Amino acid sequence: MLSQTEPLDDSGWTIKNVLSLPIVNKKEEIVGVATFYNRKDGKPFDDHDENLMEALTQFLGWSALNTDTYDKMNKLENRKDIAQDMVLYHVKCRNDEIQNVLNTRQVYDCEPWECEEEDLLDILKKDLPPLIKKFEIYEFRFSDFNCTELELVKCGIQMYYEVGVVKKFQIPQEVLVRFMYSVSKGYRKITYHNWRHGFNVGQTMFTLLTTGHLKRYYTDLEVMAMITAGFLHDIDHRGTNNLYQVKSGNPLAKLHGSSILERHHLEFGKFLLSDESLNIYQNLNRRQVDHVIHLTDIAIIATDLALYFKKRTMFQKIVDLSKTYEEEKKWVDFMSLETTRKEIVMAMMMTACDLSAITKPWEVQSKVALSVAAEFWEQGDLERTVLEQQPIPMMDRNKAAELPKLQCGFIDFVCTFVYKEFSRFHPQIQPMLDGILNNRKEWNAKKEEYEAKLKAIEEEKAAKEAAKAAKAGANNPTGGGSKTCSVC
Ligand SMILES: [Zn+2]
Repeated sequence: MLSQTEPLDDSGWTIKNVLSLPIVNKKEEIVGVATFYNRKDGKPFDDHDENLMEALTQFLGWSALNTDTYDKMNKLENRKDIAQDMVLYHVKCRNDEIQNVLNTRQVYDCEPWECEEEDLLDILKKDLPPLIKKFEIYEFRFSDFNCTELELVKCGIQMYYEVGVVKKFQIPQEVLVRFMYSVSKGYRKITYHNWRHGFNVGQTMFTLLTTGHLKRYYTDLEVMAMITAGFLHDIDHRGTNNLYQVKSGNPLAKLHGSSILERHHLEFGKFLLSDESLNIYQNLNRRQVDHVIHLTDIAIIATDLALYFKKRTMFQKIVDLSKTYEEEKKWVDFMSLETTRKEIVMAMMMTACDLSAITKPWEVQSKVALSVAAEFWEQGDLERTVLEQQPIPMMDRNKAAELPKLQCGFIDFVCTFVYKEFSRFHPQIQPMLDGILNNRKEWNAKKEEYEAKLKAIEEEKAAKEAAKAAKAGANNPTGGGSKTCSVC
């Protein structure tokens, strides 16, 4: 403490006594000094003042830390915005790319945004519908093998016209084209979970709704949400599963507690839709947007196979219930108002779409199964090299010969239920069940072939050993030698 006799400045203020205390934050770091001058009663500061001020400076320390944290959060927020901007730049359909679908430069010598909706429709009407026919988009047996990725984008766009939602919900056509193109670019170029898979799931959803007659329970708004959810459901997939995200400590696993990748696909999808130039829902009202987003949430999360087993019985009960109605119209009227039941059917439809490769004609299924397996083996390689762990047989390329056996198990314990129940629900979905049953036969034949081969090898080995033993016995007629020692 010090005292001063002369005033400090013209105001005549003099320092009589001082109490100075460090400001310490929660991390025990000194972040400042608090100084108090001149007690009101003129007396020097005492122990009581010191205690009081110490408590006060503690608060100052905490608030300093809060300010620090706030600054850091602001910085992080800015970093996130910059990263998102960079992602969007690379994912979003560019002005030169949109010309691959909407060639306004060639036809009208102008950009899409300079055209009337009618003019854009004229271009799309000429180009897209023939593709739907050519590639059998309405068929459960559809295969993308002969399509380019751009043709898949075009077919995806046309589906919105086929179900009549473009006009009804006033989707700006340039936005629709940009959205679908960007979704295709949002998929990574990986072995299986790429844009082709994303498209196939959207196409199966479309076919279940139309050819499979499931559309009758849903409004046009819901149909649009379900098809979009199909296209978006695996966007930005990394070719590794949820467990791998956890084991490798991926930030995604720290962000999401369950259904890790599915939540990411959902967030990525909503992130694309948050950009006005990609927002196909921009002319819906608030209530409609909320409903579409609600359904998208349920549909995409439902593709987590871990959740599938929980909803099986619920779905089966709905199918059972449908069989108690004699009049179809009464059942449809009843179902159309049953929000929860409709959501359960929709969730199961997503599973049916996601697994639909297992129902395709054998030439398609056998190839697709191999690409699924190849992606699993790539994860197995990562587990061995990066995590230094032994992969499970399904992901172990050294056990590739077991694929037919694994496929049979997958068909029996996971897939068959879905297509059996859907075919029971709506007979129009029977082609999917026929497909899976045929593939079960094919995989089983391969499995038996492999087992027979193994058996033959075993028998040959046993025969050789027996011959060897017999020879040893002949050379040693007294037979006193050891059975295991070849020297005796
Ligand atoms: Zn998928």
